[in-house]
Amino acid sequence: MSKVYLTGAGPGDMELLTMKAFRVVKEADVIIYDRLANPDILKEAKSGCEFVYVGKEDGRHIMPQDDINETIYQNSLKYETVVRLKGGDPFVFGRGGEEAAYLFERNVGFEIIPGITSAISVPAYAGIPVTHRGVAVSFRVVTGHESPNKKTSQIPWENFKTDDTIIFLMGLHNLPQISQKLIEIGKPADYPCAVISKGTTPDQTVVVGTLENIVERAEGVPTPALIIVGKVVELREQLEWFQK
Ligand code: SAH
Repeated sequence: MSKVYLTGAGPGDMELLTMKAFRVVKEADVIIYDRLANPDILKEAKSGCEFVYVGKEDGRHIMPQDDINETIYQNSLKYETVVRLKGGDPFVFGRGGEEAAYLFERNVGFEIIPGITSAISVPAYAGIPVTHRGVAVSFRVVTGHESPNKKTSQIPWENFKTDDTIIFLMGLHNLPQISQKLIEIGKPADYPCAVISKGTTPDQTVVVGTLENIVERAEGVPTPALIIVGKVVELREQLEWFQK
């Protein structure tokens, strides 16, 4: 019986891989991976392991999800141990749920191996805790993929008036609209925010600013990048450690 491991690869720093993920990577007959998984992880595979790449550098032209689902399924017919390696955590904007459901419908056994999501670990490597006593009592992880101006947007913008930390994934190209929208709902123009690019890797870049100036400051910053909005960003002054 073959088994598919829907596996989180962590945010970039290879040492942030879980021991369980590390074990299945070593055992895999095939590894199906995408753009965000650190390619060094593949070096840990046994000899003869097959690698299937299902992403392209330009995030807008990735393989359609239906084709990825089918690719995983077809490989489960061929191989005993299939590792589907995904950046961060497979269930945090990773479409791991869809992949698991596809396998369930076809009676293929699977396991989920959670990973360290970029949403929390990338701010941590920038010296920004997502919660902090007296500063933020909760945090939200929100898709930045759709423009806030979209009429059918399901994002509850009106709820973002509080000082809870907001982390936008996949939002760099919508940064102008996102920062503008947050000012529109009543956040001060000088409200702290940051853009963190290639977090946890040697190429990590952190740009700190306000809702008003972050677009200008973050110009040209490469993807993958996340946006973090909240007073916790100010803690970086004391807590920055990784780039020191
Ligand atoms: N499942 C992943 C997220 C997939 S969505 C996870 O749990 O981390 C892809 C988005 O994640 C990117 O657009 C970016 O916003 C964020 N991201 C992933 N890796 C990142 C990194 N190393 N630095 C900054 N942002 C990252």
